[in-house]
Amino acid sequence: MAKGTIRIDQSRCKGCNLCATACPKDLIRIALDRLNTGGYHPAMLFDPGSNCTGCALCAVMCPEVCISVYREAPVKGRTPVPA
Ligand code: SF4
Ligand code: SF4
Repeated sequence: MAKGTIRIDQSRCKGCNLCATACPKDLIRIALDRLNTGGYHPAMLFDPGSNCTGCALCAVMCPEVCISVYREAPVKGRTPVPA
């Protein structure tokens, strides 16, 4: 499965939690111990096991468009080894 990660622009996040509910891997948390400059608790990626696939469902859901998604590019020229 593809590997990915996200970056959340914490200064623009409004803490609505929509991204967290959209993530099929349950990798996004609202940081209740911090506030951004707008006075909101921002969302944060919590992915110690590197389970993000870069599916972008969180970014599509975000009404503030503050999530950037990065996805590992497939290696070109390699033939999959049969199992
Ligand atoms: S890109 Fe997909 S797997 Fe990664 S945090 Fe967003 S919704 Fe979750
Ligand atoms: S959907 Fe966007 S605005 Fe809402 S908590 Fe997630 S990153 Fe923040």
